[in-house]
Order: sequence, then C-alpha cells, then structure tokens
Amino acid sequence: MKRVFLDNASTTPMAPEIIEMMSEMMKTSYGNPSSMHSFGRESKIVIENARKTIANILNTSPGSIFFTSGGTEADNMAIMCGIYDNDIKHAITSKISHLAILHPLEDLAAAGKIKLSYVNIDKDGEVSLTHLKELLKDNERTFVSIMHANNEIGTIQNIKQIGDVCKQYNAIFHSDTVQTIAHFPFNMQELNVDFMAASAHKFHGPKGVGFVYVSEDIQIKPLLRGGGQERNMRAGTENVYGISAMAMAMEMAYAHLEKEVTYIKGLKHYMIDQLQSEIKDVQFYGKCTDLDNSLYTVLSCSFPESDMAEMLLFNLDIMGIACSGGSACSSGSNTGSHVLSAIAPDSRRPGVRFSFSKYNTKEEIDYVIEKLKDLFN
Ligand code: PLP
Repeated sequence: MKRVFLDNASTTPMAPEIIEMMSEMMKTSYGNPSSMHSFGRESKIVIENARKTIANILNTSPGSIFFTSGGTEADNMAIMCGIYDNDIKHAITSKISHLAILHPLEDLAAAGKIKLSYVNIDKDGEVSLTHLKELLKDNERTFVSIMHANNEIGTIQNIKQIGDVCKQYNAIFHSDTVQTIAHFPFNMQELNVDFMAASAHKFHGPKGVGFVYVSEDIQIKPLLRGGGQERNMRAGTENVYGISAMAMAMEMAYAHLEKEVTYIKGLKHYMIDQLQSEIKDVQFYGKCTDLDNSLYTVLSCSFPESDMAEMLLFNLDIMGIACSGGSACSSGSNTGSHVLSAIAPDSRRPGVRFSFSKYNTKEEIDYVIEKLKDLFN
C-alpha cells in the first residue's frame, strides 16, 4: 500500500545525509564532552563547532545558544527562568500558544506566582498589538510569550513588531520559534527577542535535541541542576550526535532555503487548488490560503460534518495517509484542539492539518485528493 506522510509539522523524516553522519560519529566520537582526555575533548569540539554554526546562521554570539532536549525543554527553560530569575509577577500569552507554553504558565498562575493575561487574537489567530500595549501599560515588568508561527493553523506573528512593543514597555519577550527556525531567515541583531526555542526534528534532524536562545541582556539560573555542562546553564551529558546533527540540518536548510521554500509552497498551492476544485465545501483555517503570510509547510482545513467525517483521520490512516487533526504534539489525547477552539469555538466540522516537507511530491497529493474524493463526494 502507498504511504504518504503529510504530518511534517509534528515531525519530519531525517535527511539521509544526517543519518549517515550521525552513525559514523557514534562509532568514533563517543567521549564524554566533560572528560579531560582526548576522547572527551574531541566531543567537546563537536559541540562547540555546532554552537558556532547555529550562532552564525542566526547572526548572534555562540554564548547565547544553550542545547536542550528539544522544543518543550527550551520553552520551559525560557518561561521558568525568565519569570523566576527576573522576579516577574505578570505574564502574557495567547490562547493559541503551544501547550509547552500554556501548561507551565497556567501552573505558575494556579500556584499564585504570576497573574496570567491572554492577549486578544482575531479569527485568524493574529495577535492584537493594541491589546498587547493595553496589557503592558501599567509598566509592571512583564513576561510576554507569543509564538512566531502556530503549528496547527500556520498563522505567523510579526515578532519584529511584538519585540519592539515589548522593548518599549521593558517586557521580556519569549517567542516559540519551533516551527520557523530553519524554515525562515533570522537575524537576531534586528529582533528584540530575549528567548527563542528550536527543535531539530522539525527540520529533518533527530528527535530529542533542540536549543534555547537567550539574549545576552537577560540573566538566568539553570533550570536543570547537576553537572556544569553548557557553562553551568543546563546540567546533563550533552547529546553530542544530536547536537551535531541539528547544526548540520540547519546548515542544509539554509543552504537551499529559497529553492525549498518555492518547492514546498508550490505543493501547498497545488493542494489548495485541488481541494477547492475537487471537494465540496472545504474551508481553510487562519491565513492558510495566503501563501506569503502563513507557514508554507502547513495547510489547515475543515471538511463538512458527516458520520464519516468523525472517523476521517482514521480512514485516511487506513489508506496510508498520515496527517493530523488539531495538535499532533499531543495526539493520543482526545481532548480536541485548544487552538481550533480558540479561533472557531462553534465549529463542529472536522479539522485536518496537512503539513509538507521537501520530501513530498505532487503525486502524493494527487493520491490524497483521490482518497478524499472517495470519502466525501
Ligand atoms: N512548540 C511548537 C510550536 C511545536 O510545534 C512543538 C512540537 O512538537 C513544540 C513546541 C515542542 O517541541 P518538541 O517536540 O521538540 O518538544
């Protein structure tokens, strides 16, 4: 049976070149980077080279990059350290933030450590800058967490403008950039961002490795305590192969960014056209049809309500098609999508997110459309 993977916002297949590099490195660079002997020193060099590569790509200093176990840890570190170590009593986020942001913030609010405010968003999930300024105007030092791009509906926020507003009000700004690092260019010299999060498995690197960017203006203490790794900022023996693979995945992404963006955008455009012409009453969430102002990797849509629609993801899976409904990060839970509830609370239409990578093809999309036609028409 044909198998089609259109769930690349949840994770991406690893690039074969990276698998090869990693398995070679596993055979040779197995020293503990904290060890003083030559095996250890070699591993340490691998990590520091990766840090330099990533810092160069983002146009920042290597000292602002701390390796983590992925996006969730990076977001948690930004939130817990940003808030505790800066004596913050007020945080602002939006209802469509990832659960790696909402859960720690809600826990801090429930424990009475902070007041938590939600900035207004419009029907596409775009943050209201006017409301953000309103929430910031009492000048209490605030922690603001606004994701760069939403993983379910693809809406992109203008983090340049949001960062400027935060700076104006002396707020700390964290942006969850898990869906945008290695997908869009970044120049940290132009952004007023204090914390950013990245995860290698979203750009053809391995799972379980990521980094947090911490601006040099911010002072924090480690969240994970133990050894003195990551300049005393994140204890635990480093994932040497994963870190090196992440840097390689980022280098590969930025080396061919324009070409790959054009290719993937083309696939998304084709799928929108096909859905609109072949399937009755398909609707799109957020700004998905605006190809220049939404994630080119994400197409979030909804289909007419029907008995069969209830089982849509299941039916597609049986046909070998992998996509997701709501947030794939928490798939396995059946609580529904908090993002779709925030922007379309009354809709009972089944939401499906198709998400693309450079490894997908037009033929795969044709196959999905054929199967959807069988199901709906
Ligand atoms: N933030 C966003 C926007 C995501 O899409 C994900 C996806 O999983 C995460 C954070 C968590 O990253 P990780 O899977 O590396 O923990």
